[in-house]
Amino acid sequence: MSRVYNFSAGPAVLPEEVLREAAEEMLDYRGCGMSVMEMSHRSGAFETIIQTAEADLRELMGIPANYKVLFLQGGASQQFAMIPMNLMKNGTADYIVTGQWAKKAYQEACQYGRANKIASSEDKTFSYIPDCSDLPISENADYVYICENNTIYGTKFKELPNTKGKTLVADVSSCFLSEPVDVTKYGLIYGGVQKNIGPAGVVIVIIREDLITDDVLPETPTMLKYKTHADAGSLYNTPPAYGIYICGKVFQWLKKMGGLAVMKERNEKKAGLLYDYLDQSRLFHGTVEKKDRSLMNVPFVTGSGELDAKFVKEAKEAGLENLKGHRSVGGMRASIYNAMPIEGVEALVAFMKKFEEENL
Ligand SMILES: *Cc1c(COP(=O)(O)O)cnc(C)c1O
Repeated sequence: MSRVYNFSAGPAVLPEEVLREAAEEMLDYRGCGMSVMEMSHRSGAFETIIQTAEADLRELMGIPANYKVLFLQGGASQQFAMIPMNLMKNGTADYIVTGQWAKKAYQEACQYGRANKIASSEDKTFSYIPDCSDLPISENADYVYICENNTIYGTKFKELPNTKGKTLVADVSSCFLSEPVDVTKYGLIYGGVQKNIGPAGVVIVIIREDLITDDVLPETPTMLKYKTHADAGSLYNTPPAYGIYICGKVFQWLKKMGGLAVMKERNEKKAGLLYDYLDQSRLFHGTVEKKDRSLMNVPFVTGSGELDAKFVKEAKEAGLENLKGHRSVGGMRASIYNAMPIEGVEALVAFMKKFEEENL
């Protein structure tokens, strides 16, 4: 068996320890005589799994009691519709468009009400985060929407926007649990777990209780109401049970690592290695404004499409996989989520140095 360093943006690397443990429990989960994949979601064993997962997530993020944690399906993309369907009481919401995912969320919301694009960085191919200290927030906005870490472009909000008292809604898919967070600053936090937490198929929604009501847009399907899932403890129908089980293992791993403050330090160290090298390289350079750089997704280019392709190919041969940039930007992107060990980033930087010497 040999594992590569996997820099995929998602689905992405998971802690090896978690995968090993899951493998050990595959045929017989703790004396149940069956796999978690085979057990009823109403069983005592699964109840313990989901309740422990929620308790651990609450502890890691310091989630206050007046927030619900929901384990849902449909990916992050389904939230693009669920959010306006459930939260647009006045039929108005403000969107800050800092990348493809925020843009898709904005476009989806336009189908359900008045979605206003109050800021955007599309003028410079989403290479920065706009100043959000004094935006024209709509008087009757039901919420202000951001994508906190822009997976494709590699930017991150280092400061949350001034929403002027309006509810903040954030897609944190690619920065989930990468650093400590003050949940009270948000009305709703959500993310697909396949970037930084677990296997594709689970989306976690952390939502303040007062936002969960029956007052949703007419004809909202039962399955798309937060209330349906909140009332049923995420067990209204069969949840993505195996995925939740793996997420739970990752929460335990994060606790063992020392929690989110320790993860932040680790992530800063890893990203620092790569950015420091990029800043002095004569071949490679980063593509976003320094102040807005993501700790999780690091895009870079050589300036030549041909050299970029050669780099991606040779890196793969050296055991450094999935470094090709998103199809909409080109170049390279290294996603260095929580589970990427520092040795992976060191190996990448060493390989880039060698490639630079050989190709300059
Ligand atoms: C990947 C990603 C999405 C889309 O996730 P799906 O689960 O595939 O719908 C949305 N937002 C962000 C920030 C992402 O990184």
